[in-house]
Amino acid sequence: MSEQDVREEVQGEVEDTKKEDDEYEKVCFICRRPESATGKMIELPNHISVCKDCMQKSFDAMSSGQIDYSQLMNMPGVQVFNMADMEQQVPKRQKLKKKKEGEEKKPLVDIKNLPVPHKIKASLDEYVVGQEYAKKAMSVAVYNHYKRVATDTMDDIEIEKSNMLMIGPTGSGKTYLVKTLARLLDVPLAITDATSLTEAGYIGDDIESVVSKLLAAADNDVEKAEQGIIFIDEIDKIAKKKNTNQRDVSGESVQQGMLKLLEGSDVEVPVGANSKNAMVPLTTVNTRNILFICGGAFPDLENIIKERLTKQSSIGFGADLKDKYDKDKTILSRVTTEDLRNFGMIPEFLGRLPIVFTLQGLNEEMLVKILKEPKNAILKQYQKLLAIDEVKLDFTDEALSAIAKKAMERDTGARALRAIIEDFMLDIMYEIPKDDSIGQVTITEAYIKNTGGPIITLRGQEVPRIENAV
Ligand code: ADP
Repeated sequence: MSEQDVREEVQGEVEDTKKEDDEYEKVCFICRRPESATGKMIELPNHISVCKDCMQKSFDAMSSGQIDYSQLMNMPGVQVFNMADMEQQVPKRQKLKKKKEGEEKKPLVDIKNLPVPHKIKASLDEYVVGQEYAKKAMSVAVYNHYKRVATDTMDDIEIEKSNMLMIGPTGSGKTYLVKTLARLLDVPLAITDATSLTEAGYIGDDIESVVSKLLAAADNDVEKAEQGIIFIDEIDKIAKKKNTNQRDVSGESVQQGMLKLLEGSDVEVPVGANSKNAMVPLTTVNTRNILFICGGAFPDLENIIKERLTKQSSIGFGADLKDKYDKDKTILSRVTTEDLRNFGMIPEFLGRLPIVFTLQGLNEEMLVKILKEPKNAILKQYQKLLAIDEVKLDFTDEALSAIAKKAMERDTGARALRAIIEDFMLDIMYEIPKDDSIGQVTITEAYIKNTGGPIITLRGQEVPRIENAV
């Protein structure tokens, strides 16, 4: 590298740092408060900033003359002030995004451009297969939520928050729905797992850490984070523990702790870290306009619903047979808050999640659709990969059904599909590039079932040649 290049590179880096400094706030080295809270900072060497209050306190302490620093300096093992120790600067991820002066607080989603529910649903349709009711309920709830954020009225009629509770088996698309939604609306999204949450002070993440994650997703921009979406997965894991005489630090207490968060309150969160400690700056985030979506598989909930339904109908002449609901696949959609309470969710918690809906378990037909229909369907991804090698990839309908059948056996919903496909595509992806003359590969049912091979067609060859191994 020539000297000129080196100089240009260094110059470039200096400009980059300047740019970053323009967008992010300084944080006081001593009290860790951001510049917007402390007022203008005093800059010391080595990128250290100290607020006026802390500077003043330091001078006061020195001038009060209680400590004889000259004595300390000479004591073995005691070091008073060493600039070299302070070399570390506050990492960027712990700095807050600056607000421009005179900039008004404006809603992230503009009410005039906010897509109407049927448009939101149509966009979801492009990615998510089935789950019609869930998509509809979600579209309406999100529409109302952002209307509420945009109007932000403080008059008599305050629109209630539309936090949601999604119930559905694993791999049915809960996380996927939320992710797609956040991307469509272009709002920050944080996904956390309720299993890791514990009451503050116990081992695990504090409840407020979910807001901290959202702040990170919004590039430490508090205003943006305040209008984002938080998805808390595995919410059924914080159900009240039954028959326990110990303190329930990861169950009921977490639900209690989440109440104020769900409803909307100012929470003090660490910036760029999961827990509060002396080394991270804190900031205040208001959760009033954050949309909370909770999701969980709620195993056993079906039995609770069945029990209630059978009890209701087992009295008098209209009594039903005991196993009437055993084969009912849509039983989950008949859930009520009473069932959820019996499951172990506390009423106050449920009260703050007014929109409850269920997702169906995926059947074979839906799995086949998931394979080929969505915008970024797995098959399309592989076809694109092979197209780069100028090879056409095809699947017979029977092959797709066979893949779906295999996935059904694993009982992990659509999540099993990728694993299965990856398994047999490995050989194809390995072998095909070896031979330039191959023009098309057709995956057959026999290949999926390990009883035969795919159909390989050579370039310019009309009649397919069947091979047993690739
Ligand atoms: P969970 O319900 O357990 O949160 P996920 O949403 O994480 O399940 O689903 C796992 C993966 O399966 C997703 O990344 C997505 O690719 C796929 N998937 C699941 N359900 C659907 C669906 N209804 N339509 C399209 N893809 C789906």
